[in-house]
Amino acid sequence: AKADGRSTYRIFQPEMEAETQARHAIEADLRTALANDEFELLYQPLIDLGTGRVARCEALLRWKHPTRGYVSPLDFIHVAEETGLILPIGDWVLNEACREARNWPDEVGVAVNLSPVQFNNPSLSLQVVSALQRSGLPAQRLELEVTESVTLDGNEHTLTTIDQLQSLGIHLSLDDFGTGYSSLSYLKKFPFDTLKIDRSFVNELSEAADSVAIVRAVVGMGKSLGMTIVVEGVETEEQLAILKAEGCDLGQGYLFSRPISAGAIRTIISDGSAM
Ligand code: C2E
Ligand code: CA
Ligand code: CA
Ligand code: CA
Repeated sequence: AKADGRSTYRIFQPEMEAETQARHAIEADLRTALANDEFELLYQPLIDLGTGRVARCEALLRWKHPTRGYVSPLDFIHVAEETGLILPIGDWVLNEACREARNWPDEVGVAVNLSPVQFNNPSLSLQVVSALQRSGLPAQRLELEVTESVTLDGNEHTLTTIDQLQSLGIHLSLDDFGTGYSSLSYLKKFPFDTLKIDRSFVNELSEAADSVAIVRAVVGMGKSLGMTIVVEGVETEEQLAILKAEGCDLGQGYLFSRPISAGAIRTIISDGSAM
């Protein structure tokens, strides 16, 4: 078991057979999870570092398994992707997040993670339109987060999808920035609205001067392209001070709040308290 006591599917023995069995177990369970309403969304605020207010909230998926307890997305998303189950699960996430965000003030948006499998699904735009219509959420309040892996195959297709989604009025965010191969030319080619600096850079901020230089370069690059810069994984006041000084727009991390229930995030938002 993991240190935090959460139940996990991860198999530590090297045997392939055990891994395959675990995978089949997850797949079978995932098929019933949707029908049995075992998924839940938690929300984590993204704080405007200028005003201290909640700018938007990221929806983070949890699986409340009847016998294993809470299962982390890191332990089942990859199986959901390999089996195609990520499509109905992702559609549920999109609808649920839009529906919940309707309860928040007009200026607070919602960010939803998209798997590359969803991103490459030809009916993505239709599903997004449908989620917006059913919930009544204005498109401007929805942001979709993707990682750069969506662009590894077929650049033309990626550009078309980005264009389709942006013409609906929603925003697109490039998640985990800095962990892959992205460069300035990449950012110019794929016009994301928001850039999220991966938390591995934030982790090292207090120790390594190099990391400050990297953050500074990324902020400069993103801003020169008109992007909103988000930093994730902010855990200490020291990190926050550096990130503010470097001109990051929004911050997200345990320093402000862990991911919390829909009810709890409503309270935080409506308190309007600067964080
Ligand atoms: P992500 O999109 O990079 O989400 C941020 C992760 O960092 C979340 O983990 C969040 O709980 C965690 N985090 C936030 N602040 C801090 C901090 O200050 N320190 C540390 N150490 N961690 C922090 P979580 O909720 O376990 O999600 C893990 C990943 O699972 C996400 O990474 C995302 O890639 C994926 N995921 C979550 N929900 C969904 C979903 O609905 N659809 C898809 N396709 N993927 C999802
Ligand atoms: Ca994300
Ligand atoms: Ca991220
Ligand atoms: Ca990540």
